[in-house]
Amino acid sequence: MQVPAHFEYQRATSVEHAIALLTRHGPETRVVAGGHSLIPMMKLRLAQPEMLIDINDLGELAGITVAPGVLRLGAMVRHADLLGSAQVGALLPVLHDAERVIADPVVRNRGTIGGSVCQADPSEDLAGAFCALRAVAVIRGADGDRAVPMREFFTGPYETVVGPAEVLVELRVPLWSAGSAYLKVDRRSGDWAVAAAAAAVATGPGGVVTEVGIGLTAVGRFLAEEAEDFLRGRAATEANLVEAGRVAAQHCRPTADQRGPVDYKRHLAGELTTRALRLAVERAA
Ligand SMILES: Cc1cc2nc3c(=O)[nH]c(=O)nc-3n(C[C@H](O)[C@H](O)[C@H](O)COP(=O)(O)OP(=O)(O)OC[C@H]3O[C@@H](n4cnc5c(N)ncnc54)[C@H](O)[C@@H]3O)c2cc1C
Repeated sequence: MQVPAHFEYQRATSVEHAIALLTRHGPETRVVAGGHSLIPMMKLRLAQPEMLIDINDLGELAGITVAPGVLRLGAMVRHADLLGSAQVGALLPVLHDAERVIADPVVRNRGTIGGSVCQADPSEDLAGAFCALRAVAVIRGADGDRAVPMREFFTGPYETVVGPAEVLVELRVPLWSAGSAYLKVDRRSGDWAVAAAAAAVATGPGGVVTEVGIGLTAVGRFLAEEAEDFLRGRAATEANLVEAGRVAAQHCRPTADQRGPVDYKRHLAGELTTRALRLAVERAA
């Protein structure tokens, strides 16, 4: 049986309390949210924090709020809460598409959106979706809040801009898109992605794409800015959506692993980008 190394444990009573504990106990201290990534890593001794700060009592981080022009999601919103929100599904179907294919109900009942993006697993499903939507992360530390676009949030595999004494408190998702979608290929239901793509679009007169966001999963980068640049300002024709997919495939950086070889993942990135864009455009109509 795998068991974690010895660690201390404390429950935070507020975000400020969590930050104070992180500051006091130093860099070997981690917050634990749903625990669905951190605890398995501790059992495998891939992570050995000396102290865990449990943030599960922080109801202030669990809200889903629609304000004018923006959806505000607390970091402790569980996957199941996001999937259960009809408002989220109506405004941003890409988030429901992504949540439906994350693991299984056991993981979704406990895992949080904040834990997912802070884990920064390259195969994690919400990162590409939040990048496509141009969401903004609100991160709190001893000096107050700072806002970081999700497109600048990830600094590498399993690395983010969140500092050792900071807590992600909220994701703010601007409501600019008229249609959005997420499509994933996995080897079996609920598995991590072989590859996946998120798309969000806004269209104007004549079906011209006035703004577009494309996010990728499990192919070496979450962004597909070259494909966005190609499509922005062009009509959402089938030929242009196919070309956008081709550009996304060309610029992604998959690596071969047990889920498939590079060529297959690159092919999927392109095809899924085109299909996600097609669905997003349909939903925008
Ligand atoms: C069997 C299984 C299958 C899975 N399949 C998928 C899948 O197909 N797709 C997918 O996307 N995910 C999948 N997951 C991961 C799942 O989505 C987890 O919920 C997620 O990775 C982590 O969320 P958590 O709340 O459990 O975070 P935790 O495990 O509690 O934390 C993860 C990391 O984030 C940090 N952290 C957490 N919250 C904050 C915060 N507010 N501020 C700062 N740092 C924070 C922690 O310190 C830790 O380093 C799977 C997990 C399991 C166990």
